[in-house]
Amino acid sequence: ADRELDLSTLGIPGGGYVDCEWITADLSLPVTDPEDDTLIAHVHLGDTADMDRALDGVERSLRDDAWELWERRETLERAVALIRAESSRLARIISAEGSKTIAEATGEAARTAETIRLAAGSAQLLEGETLALADTPRGRGRLGWNRRTPLGVIAAITPFNDPMNLVAHKVGPALIAGNAVVLKPSRATPLSALALLEILLRAGMPSGRMAVLVSDREAGTALVSDPRVAAVSFTGGPATGEVIARSAGARKILMELGGNNAVVVCDDADVEAAAAGIVDGAFGVAGQNCLSVQRVYVHESRYEQLVQLVVDATSKLVTGSKHDAATDVGPLISEQEARRVEEWVDAAVADGARVATGGVRRGPFLEPTVLLEVPASAKVLHEEVFGPVVSIVPFADLDDALARVDDTQYGLQAGVFTASLQTAMHAADRLHVGTVLINETSDFRIDSMPFGGSKRSGIGREGVASAVLELSEPKNVIVSRL
Ligand code: NAD
Repeated sequence: ADRELDLSTLGIPGGGYVDCEWITADLSLPVTDPEDDTLIAHVHLGDTADMDRALDGVERSLRDDAWELWERRETLERAVALIRAESSRLARIISAEGSKTIAEATGEAARTAETIRLAAGSAQLLEGETLALADTPRGRGRLGWNRRTPLGVIAAITPFNDPMNLVAHKVGPALIAGNAVVLKPSRATPLSALALLEILLRAGMPSGRMAVLVSDREAGTALVSDPRVAAVSFTGGPATGEVIARSAGARKILMELGGNNAVVVCDDADVEAAAAGIVDGAFGVAGQNCLSVQRVYVHESRYEQLVQLVVDATSKLVTGSKHDAATDVGPLISEQEARRVEEWVDAAVADGARVATGGVRRGPFLEPTVLLEVPASAKVLHEEVFGPVVSIVPFADLDDALARVDDTQYGLQAGVFTASLQTAMHAADRLHVGTVLINETSDFRIDSMPFGGSKRSGIGREGVASAVLELSEPKNVIVSRL
């Protein structure tokens, strides 16, 4: 069925936004609902000439539009009010083009307002410091200070799975710090980014300060390698990150990449709380979340209890249309992705794993799947699944389990369930990840906290305050008494 909506019925004036103008002609790229391939809208697929115009436009705005810190803060505060007032429209856009159920999308719209609110509130981070010049004899007679100045033009590239809040994490900190942004959203989910941009414009952002353009690969490469770009801020998969880092060369790069996060359930854990958290963290957004719980290591004395609780709760989850209020687990972002995840499950089974529940695919839908007796070499334990699959593995020795958590190229977040403070502290010391969560799964994030991963999970830290600091730099002024 063709239920293409006029973009304007979504409150989006065009299929891209470049150099102060909405693009309303040549909208050739279809945006479809991944659940049934129905057409939602068309947007513009940018080429290198569009990208060049985008960069020119934001550079001109940086040069010509005075937009002081207090004005930036007020603009973002007005945007927060608009996002909140229009959250049901925004949730519908998030849900329509992506994988989220309406409940999940409503949560994301609220998180987006929160992220922009935190960015508005971080203005004081830009104030800098006075320099301790008198601490050395050569500093005598001088007074020095610094203030944080913007980097310039930020190239931001975002994935499909949190199509609005992850855009807010790029744009909010970049703007409050005084930068301009060229954003290339995922081609699967461009409408959420365009909707957020439209709100920022209505809230009073100078019309040239940001551009949003879906583009082909060539224009993406042109963006990250352009000399006008001061920094590249990317969220997506590690393979893409690698390609982008190579194109970007020697300039500031921030990368939020993948994970294959683990949870450790110790012999003294609250197993019921652990099971509930695991089911929630493994299958939210059909497992398409960088913080998703993918591996569970449980003490052998609690293995059967945990497996039973997780399998029982998982088998009760309703997989189906994200438009249906009863649905717990919606579609993957494409049938192709669902087939890939199914193949990984099949490969684990061929090597001896057992499907305790789930495993059945229907088009882009894959039932939430619990795997047991998974061989240590299986891809589902080592690579990022990015789908609704969790493996539960028993352990006898805690240090052995912690070593297995770390036996991967990734290091985003890890959860540890234990009643012992000593065990918690020991695990927190040992694990090589960005965040260790005690009595919580890997799937927890507050938008203000420094957020990111070790090893192949990323470079640098995002989270609003960290991103504000990453996207600005201190400029010293030293005054000498003549
Ligand atoms: P992806 O890597 O396929 O794409 C991410 C973005 O990069 C898209 O906008 C895509 O169009 C763009 N891109 C691809 N090739 C490019 C190129 N050569 N030049 C410029 N841009 C290019 O990722 P995805 O499938 O959209 O998202 C899933 C991945 O994102 C997972 O690995 C997930 O873990 C990761 N992710 C990480 C975080 C985090 O904060 N650490 C958050 C969400 C998602």
